[in-house]
Amino acid sequence: MKRTLFSSGSVLDVVSGEVRGADVVVEGDRIVAVGRGLDGDEAVDCAGSLLVPGFIDCHTHVALSQTMKDSFGLARSVRPLSAVPVLRTLLGLGITTVRDAWGADAGIRVAVERGWIEGPRILVSLRQVCTTGGIGDHWSIRAGDLDFFGDPAMPEPVFDGPVDARAVVRRMVRAGADWIKVTASGSMSRGVGVHDVQLTPGEMAALVDEATRQGGRGVMVHAHGARAAELAARSGARSVEHGMFLDEAAVGAMAEAGTWLVPTLSVSQSASDQVPAEAAEAHRRSVRLAIAAGVPIAMGTDNPVRPHAEALRELEHLSAAGLGHAGALRAATIDAARLLRLADDRGEIADGKRADLVLLSGIGLDPATLESRIAGVWRDGRRVAGG
Ligand SMILES: [Zn+2]
Repeated sequence: MKRTLFSSGSVLDVVSGEVRGADVVVEGDRIVAVGRGLDGDEAVDCAGSLLVPGFIDCHTHVALSQTMKDSFGLARSVRPLSAVPVLRTLLGLGITTVRDAWGADAGIRVAVERGWIEGPRILVSLRQVCTTGGIGDHWSIRAGDLDFFGDPAMPEPVFDGPVDARAVVRRMVRAGADWIKVTASGSMSRGVGVHDVQLTPGEMAALVDEATRQGGRGVMVHAHGARAAELAARSGARSVEHGMFLDEAAVGAMAEAGTWLVPTLSVSQSASDQVPAEAAEAHRRSVRLAIAAGVPIAMGTDNPVRPHAEALRELEHLSAAGLGHAGALRAATIDAARLLRLADDRGEIADGKRADLVLLSGIGLDPATLESRIAGVWRDGRRVAGG
């Protein structure tokens, strides 16, 4: 098999945050050697440049850009097809894996796997499960139950009680969900119930237990308020999403349980018209508390809250909130892979790992410069952008 040599450049060790001079050899979809003085059948000249692992966005919505603007005036095919340009945009930014936090169906994953469309590999959660009246409940006081998707691939997400919690997990898994997404508090955009805890401990425990039984799937919990985040942690959920108003008790519970925080700072740090200044400050404070408590943090954007083309700005927000440049890059690579339980396969430039690579001109780590420095992107050893 042909061996591609990435020669004479520098490589970021995302675990230590160090940049070192090294060659990298890729064979098929794998990195097979990292070191000095290596050779290959063909070379990519990396002199003066930095290779970093492909980025991983742990909270995005690749199929919601159009649906959010016009829920009922467009044909059903618009939702999945709207993901096509989004996925191409993300790949061009060096994002080679995404966890979709609802909106994408399992067919989009199939289309990427089979090469029908170019994009990051995608893990799907289909819809956000919730109790009656939660933010995944598309009920209207005028029309009643709305068949928002009209599609068996996007199952009914509303449940009440521990027995029904197991049923909703099974419905999602039956339709191809890789992750279970649940909303445990209200949303900032709706502005109600942000501090509520919308599930009972019994409901949350049943969701997590059932997801674990179903192939060891993880549960990602939308939670703005501290008590919802604390419940998620105590119930064994894998990650808390947003966590805008965390406190010491919440981050303590998360650190103890090893619960990940995916802060999605893009929600509050860019869109100032949607989120009040106090909330933006509270969000930064939550991340500082989490870092101080030792809560593991992974990168997620929650786009299209901001345009998908701005995805890498989340790294700037993470850096500014306390992770620093190297910490932000780590959150978007190896730590994101650890959250997704994919760290054996990807997330760093090392022997045997998947050849998801981003070539940056220059060797600095400042996230604000990343987007303009992308000279090439490889997914599974194949060049998919740049050059
Ligand atoms: Zn989201």
